[in-house]
Amino acid sequence: MAYTPFDLTGRTVLVTGGNRGIGLGMAEALVQSGAGVVIWGSNPDNNAKAESALKALQGKGPILTQVCDVSDEAAVDARMAEAVRQVGPIYGCIANAGISGGAKSFMEMTTEEWRRMLSINLDGAFYTLRAASRHMVEAGQGGSLISMASTAAIEGAARSEHYAATKGGLLSMTRAIAVELARYRIRANSILPGWIETDMTERLTSYDKFVDNVMPRIPARRWGKRSDFGGIGVYLMSDAADYHTGDHFVIDGGYTLF
Ligand code: NDP
Repeated sequence: MAYTPFDLTGRTVLVTGGNRGIGLGMAEALVQSGAGVVIWGSNPDNNAKAESALKALQGKGPILTQVCDVSDEAAVDARMAEAVRQVGPIYGCIANAGISGGAKSFMEMTTEEWRRMLSINLDGAFYTLRAASRHMVEAGQGGSLISMASTAAIEGAARSEHYAATKGGLLSMTRAIAVELARYRIRANSILPGWIETDMTERLTSYDKFVDNVMPRIPARRWGKRSDFGGIGVYLMSDAADYHTGDHFVIDGGYTLF
């Protein structure tokens, strides 16, 4: 008999920030593994581009894009309800949408900058995972939640204390969710990317001084790519990960080993 735990046919996964970067890399792999996807982004043009790219993969499941600013609590709840009405039960949710701030001394950071970072990266993930959990518990089919944290969650990020705080918060919140929701067969894990080449890091990865400093610290000797996140997304949404919860996965080419 064939071993097919990575066949995600019949499962639909919500990916916030799935219209580009790491989220899109995960969505592509999910679609190629048979899953349906619901993509949230705040920019309709980015959503439209992602929708046609994902449809071109000719997967088996539904593909739905919705404009949703994850820092807007009411919008998150409303989009979740609409998504379920349109595509049926959601099996998994990847709280990936996030922003980074311009590097700046902690002592110069304004309260507005601090609050904006928290409202998207941490409040947004809370609203999203809460809405998904409520729906998944009601649907009674188990499921899988993923939080997109960062290596900053465990090693900090000088001059980006607000960013590091949100990622550390996500890591701890996700462990707590794993304990609480295990009784509903809902698993919760975090992913901690290192330096990944996306729009978020474009300014840095094309800056020679930064490359000279950081690249020698990456044993794999390359930036991560969005496709490096496909496998972990598929695994965590699959039956192969049925006993895997409360964990975090560092995907950084060995960066944090130095
Ligand atoms: P990108 O900047 O390439 O993409 C960010 C995504 O988040 C976009 O899809 C964007 O869509 C969406 N987004 C941003 N704000 C909102 C919002 N308010 N509501 C809904 N969607 C929003 O980032 P990456 O792909 O690089 O990063 C993805 C995640 O991975 C983030 O949480 C980031 O912190 C984390 N990460 C990234 C690392 C890296 O090196 N790139 C390293 C460690 C962690 P739209 O523009 O349509 O709103």
